[in-house]
Amino acid sequence: MTVESAQRALVDTDFVMTIDGKPESTSNRAPVLNPATKKVVATVPVASRADLDRAVAAAQQAFVSWSKTPLVKRQAAVSAIGDLLEARAEEFIALLTSEQGKPRPMAEWEIFGSVAWFREIAKQSLPEEVLEDTKDRRVVSRHTPLGVVGAIVPWNFPILLMVWKIAPALVAGDTMIVKPSPFTPLCDLKLIELVQELLPPGVLSAVSGDDELGKWITSHPGISKIAFTGSTETGKHVMRSAADTLKRVTLELGGNDPAIVLPDVDPKKVAPQVFWAAFQNNAQFCNAAKRIYIHDDVYDAVRDELVEYAKNVKVGDGAESDTELGPIQNEPQFLKVKEYFDDCTSNGYTFALGGQIDSNADGWFVPVTVVDNPPEDSRLVAEEPFGPILPLLRWTDEADVIRRANDTIWGLGATVWGADLEAIERIGRQLEAGTVWLNEVHQYSPHQVFGGHKQSGIGAENSLHGLAEYTNHQTITINKAEGAVS
Ligand code: NAD
Repeated sequence: MTVESAQRALVDTDFVMTIDGKPESTSNRAPVLNPATKKVVATVPVASRADLDRAVAAAQQAFVSWSKTPLVKRQAAVSAIGDLLEARAEEFIALLTSEQGKPRPMAEWEIFGSVAWFREIAKQSLPEEVLEDTKDRRVVSRHTPLGVVGAIVPWNFPILLMVWKIAPALVAGDTMIVKPSPFTPLCDLKLIELVQELLPPGVLSAVSGDDELGKWITSHPGISKIAFTGSTETGKHVMRSAADTLKRVTLELGGNDPAIVLPDVDPKKVAPQVFWAAFQNNAQFCNAAKRIYIHDDVYDAVRDELVEYAKNVKVGDGAESDTELGPIQNEPQFLKVKEYFDDCTSNGYTFALGGQIDSNADGWFVPVTVVDNPPEDSRLVAEEPFGPILPLLRWTDEADVIRRANDTIWGLGATVWGADLEAIERIGRQLEAGTVWLNEVHQYSPHQVFGGHKQSGIGAENSLHGLAEYTNHQTITINKAEGAVS
């Protein structure tokens, strides 16, 4: 199948919600735009509150038997979803590019990453632990499923971050209702529609709509947990709303990841790596390196190499084969990113590269932009732009750069780059972040715990820690002593 025919294959189908195992539409439908062209790709249903209520009722009903389905069967179903996605990978890659804007290599990474996640999470389990077993007493610690989980997903990695939720929830014995981002609902709705043949009705549902739907989900009394990935601001709304019914929450939120570059690097070798640490997925990446602290000894050389490298990176429509970075995914985000350009311009900060947005472009395109040593308290350094505008900052003193790196409300990820392995580990261990990468970046695994420190989140995804978040802890104690009760 060619890329074009693959794209048509899914785009030309109807996009539906899935409730109780069945496709559902609504008379009110919302458009989904291709960010490279601003043209409508497809339309999706807009759920009413009654639609959500039906999805919750079906998920509660399905939970009764799914939670009692043997673990091996649940694992097999999750693994089979991975097989289905792999078999249709070409179609999903094309669809992902058309709704999200990301170029093919990044779309491939996301789809095949999703396949791997389904298969690997399907191997996980949380066995019972026998804490005491004597003639008179047995104590067992075990995990029980929670019930119905609401999954709320962002637009930057719409399918992978949904899969990070579906796979553990289903293995744990929960049922799930997914709400995709209104900007990128197509892959999510289609995958959930297609996998119904592998699951009993009601185990995995999808409802589409706007942010109001998100609020109905977080306050719904029939939902036991919210698995949320999105901005820190929305995460706080989710937590407040979930409090009334004491829902469990896993919150994967924003970040402002520092990268620290030591004086012993080869600027030519480190520059491309730092570039992709910062600009991968067009910097619409929770774990993008968002502040680059470069030692004064190599600052000029690393900046110049970074700029030279960046000049040759092609920004364009992700559907074109030579594109390396796509557009900003949606208009509100484009306007937000533009604010950082305007702020840098009006404050007279120096652009080492870029700085000018062409507002008449066909899509929401922003040039790769590097800002030369802006103040530490500038908006660009202190906030999360979530777009391709990157501040470079000078440092000389190790303790001071660690303090600056940690001086933020966020704590999602961090990187350190240097030839002295002892030094990078010494610095890395002092950084307040859920993941610290040393001389590498963006290495994830289904078996590696992922989560944010400070206001980057609560709880974790992936690994057995992530799986455990889809369960209750339960302790069972048995007094077997002769004559205890009779
Ligand atoms: P967002 O917070 O605007 O939206 C995320 C989801 O929440 C969407 O589905 C949206 O419709 C929904 N939503 C919005 N308001 C809601 C409400 N009041 N109640 C319930 N749901 C609501 O985030 P976004 O713009 O889609 O994504 C970008 C943000 O996500 C960035 O801050 C980024 O750092 C963060 N992110 C974090 C991770 C992580 O794993 N930590 C991963 C990717 C993205």
